[in-house]
Order: sequence, then C-alpha cells, then structure tokens
Amino acid sequence: MSGLYIHIPFCRSKCAYCDFTSYAGKEELIDAYLDAIRKEAHTYTSGGQHVSQCRSDGLGGFSTLYVGGGTPSLLTVAQLKNLFSFLKQDIIGQDILEETTFEANCESLSEEKLAVLKNSGVNRLSLGLQSAEDRLLRRLGRPADFKHFLWAFEAARKAGFENINIDLMNALPGQSVNDFAQSLEETIKLAPEHVSLYALEVHKGTDLFRQGARENPDIAADMYELAVDRLSRAGYARYEISNFAKPGLESRHNLNYWDQGAYLGLGCAAASYLDGTRWNNTHNLDMYLKTAPVLRENEEKLAGRAKTAERIMLGLRKTRGIELDDDIIIEFNGKIDRLLGLGLIEKTGRAIKIKSGKLYLSNAVFREFI
Ligand code: SF4
Repeated sequence: MSGLYIHIPFCRSKCAYCDFTSYAGKEELIDAYLDAIRKEAHTYTSGGQHVSQCRSDGLGGFSTLYVGGGTPSLLTVAQLKNLFSFLKQDIIGQDILEETTFEANCESLSEEKLAVLKNSGVNRLSLGLQSAEDRLLRRLGRPADFKHFLWAFEAARKAGFENINIDLMNALPGQSVNDFAQSLEETIKLAPEHVSLYALEVHKGTDLFRQGARENPDIAADMYELAVDRLSRAGYARYEISNFAKPGLESRHNLNYWDQGAYLGLGCAAASYLDGTRWNNTHNLDMYLKTAPVLRENEEKLAGRAKTAERIMLGLRKTRGIELDDDIIIEFNGKIDRLLGLGLIEKTGRAIKIKSGKLYLSNAVFREFI
C-alpha cells in the first residue's frame, strides 16, 4: 500500500506555538495553489495516466489519502470541490482508498463544507481542539473557543462522520495537571474514535518563545501518564507514542509512515518517501507557486544501515514494536542488547518494543540508532 498526502498551508491566523509551514492572511493565493498541486501531480504522470498508474518509482496504488495543513477547512466550498475532483481525476483514478482523512479547524467549518467532504469520500475527520479551556486556547492564539468546537463536533456527527480524531495538547503554559485532566474528560465525553496527544514544543521564532514560555518535560510526563491511564480505561488503545484509538480505528495513513511504507506528498513542504528516497518540497510558498518542477529539499537516498536504523526508529514508535530480521540483527544486535540491559525495551520471540512504562523515554531509545 502507499499513501498520498496533500499539504494545504493556509490558516486563518498564526497560532502562538506554530512552527509548521502555514501562512495566515493569504487566502487569495489558494486557487493558484490548487493549480500548482495539480501541475505538480502531472510531473509524476505521462500519456494521460493518473499518478498511481505510473509505477516505475515503487509507488503502486494509493490506499490512503490525507489532506493536512495548515487548515484545509479554510478552502471554500468551490475550492474543496475542485480539489477532490482533480485528486480523483488526475491522481487517484480507480484506486480504492481505505481511508481518506481531512484536517479541520472549527472556525472555518460549515455544514455545507462538511456535506461536500462527506460526498467527496472523506471518511475520517481530524479536528484540532488542543484544550477545552478558553483561557488556554487564547494563550495559544487559537481563533475559536471550546463552544465553537462542540458545535463543529456535533455538526460533523450530524453530517455522518463516524470516524473522528481529536487533537489535544498538554504541558501548556499555565496548565495544571487538573486543567489537563478536565480537557481529557471533555474529550472522552464526546466519544471520538481517535485521540492524538502532543506535548507543547516551544520553537524559537514563535510568539510563545518570544513571550518566554518554555517546555516542561516533567509536567508533560505526568500529564502523559494520566492520559494513558484515563484513555485506556475509556476504551482507547495506545498504538503509537502519541496516538490512541478505539479497536480497529487506528490511522492507516500514519501506520504506513511508521511501517516505512511509500508515500507521495504534494504541495508546499510536503514530504515524500518513494523507492528508498525521501525528500520534502520547498517550504517557500512563492517558490512552490512559481518554480517548475517543484524544488526539493533534504533529498536523501536511504540504503543499508541508515535505512534499517530508520525502520527501527519508526517501528519502535508503535506499541506493538517491530519484528527483528537479519538486517536488524546484523547491524544493531549490540545496541538492542544494551537497551534490553537498560530495561528500556523488551523482547518477545522475534519482536522488540519499548516497554509500555518507558514510552515517554522513546527519544533516548531512538538516539541509540542515529
Ligand atoms: S491551525 Fe495549525 S497549522 Fe495553522 S497556525 Fe495553528 S497550529 Fe499552525
């Protein structure tokens, strides 16, 4: 299987913590941007075929589509229809998509847009909440409040979405463990099928950094443990360090990343991994719009030990871990023995995984393989 990712780098405003490739106040460029994505897709095709018919690069057919951002729900109804129409016509063709995810923020959703998404085959919606406390949402520079989020969640259910992810953050400035527990309870009350949880990262250049906010790993670890316990009691299994799902509702698109599967990313800053080569498109929106073929950054052919190391690091993000094969054993047996000795990972048969109580130390495990 392989995945298709489309990056929509436009947002209504810039959140105070945001380090992603996203631009506020540039809605007038969206039509030109969609044209550029279509043109980029054509660089992977020839002779009127759609992208996945061109198999020379190891792509094969697509089985998942993920439209992320940025804020894809900022697109107008007409732009959404245009996007899904050319995705189908030029890129996906006859491929059967098992999962089509669309990221949305409540301030730019409407009942009409939800109906278009549903009719376009979107079967998984990912909604950004971050916190159920308006005080913290304002601190993060989020443009909507919790009441607005509740409206969006309810509207999505009414539109027929049966697979919804909620994005939450923890270790926010001014957030106590009790505050976080409340956001968690509000989330669980809504009974989404999937929850993603990320600790706040404070990057240089963001408003939060300039305001003096800093990361707090100790409080982040406490909140993480609380979330693991509370979500598991509510029927969500942690299947990746930051991701929790009701049985059978794990994100297939993201599992493909962690299984080192092939994926094609279209759009400004979108990442791809095809035939052992990975790269990302230019992060510069003007360059993306004007330069053909699209400029690539960080292009790297992964082979041998580096490819195996990356497979281990990606695989160990999953709670089920990774099967040991000859490549892993030949290259990394010593490292694995060391991590077993330190009590950070465990081995069952031919599989290794990070111990469940040590997942918050996963970066220390990954460092062994860099
Ligand atoms: S909505 Fe997401 S991508 Fe957009 S500014 Fe906020 S954090 Fe960044």
